[in-house]
Amino acid sequence: MIKLTNRPTKSKVITSPFGPRWGTFHPGVDIAPLKPSIDGDELYSVAENGKVVVSKVNGGGVLSGYGYYSIIQYLGFYALYGHQTSLLFDVGDKVEAGQVIGYMGHTGKVVSEHGTGTHLHFGLYKGTYGTHAFSDDINISGAIDPVPYFNQPDKAVIPTSNPVKEVKPLIIVPTWAKVAWDWATSSGINDGKVESEEEPKTMCYIYRLYEKFIKPLVDRIKTLEDRIKRIEDALKKGGLM
Ligand SMILES: [Zn+2]
Repeated sequence: MIKLTNRPTKSKVITSPFGPRWGTFHPGVDIAPLKPSIDGDELYSVAENGKVVVSKVNGGGVLSGYGYYSIIQYLGFYALYGHQTSLLFDVGDKVEAGQVIGYMGHTGKVVSEHGTGTHLHFGLYKGTYGTHAFSDDINISGAIDPVPYFNQPDKAVIPTSNPVKEVKPLIIVPTWAKVAWDWATSSGINDGKVESEEEPKTMCYIYRLYEKFIKPLVDRIKTLEDRIKRIEDALKKGGLM
C-alpha cells in the first residue's frame, strides 16, 4: 500500500500534471518553487524507511533529462526527485520521513521550447526493485499519479491543460557554444550549471583562447619534452650521462 506521510516539498502548486504531454507521457508532476524561479526549496522524503537507490546525474549530462536526480525506495513503491541543485545522498543511504533529501533546482531539461524553469519533477512508481530499469534514464515503468496520495490533495493546484507557461527566462547553451561548454565542464572550469546567459559566451571565449594560444604551446612543449627525453636516453646509453 502506498502511504505518503509528507509532501515532497512545501509548495503545493502543481504546474504540470501527470499524464500525456506534448506528444509523450509525463510520468510525474511538476511542482513550482515557493518563489518563482528561485532554486533551493527543501525536498523531503515522503514516507517512512526510505532508502536511496539512485543518486546520479542524468545519462546525457547535467543539461538533459532530470539533471541531478535521486530515487528513494519505500515499502512497495519508489519516489523520483528530478532537477535537484545537487546530490546530497549516496546510493544505499537511509532517509527518514520528512528528512531533507535535496533542493529544488533547474538542472536537466527544464529549459525548452515549452518554457519551464526551476521546479521539482516528482514521480511515484509502484512495484518492487528489479521491475524498473532505473539505470536507464528514459525507461522507467510503473509510474502513477502521485497527487491522490498527497496529504490534502485538494490543495494542489492543477491546471486543466498543458503546456505550462512560466517561470524563468530561458537559459540554454546554444548549439554554437556546446563544444566550448562541454570542454569547460569536462576540464572542471565550470560546474555544468547554466547560471546566466553570459556563461556560455564566457566559456566560448576561454575555449577560443585555449585553442588559439594555450593548446599549441602545450603541444609544442610536449614535443620538446619528448625530444629531450630521447636525447637523454641516447646519452645514457652511450655512457655520456
Ligand atoms: Zn516533470
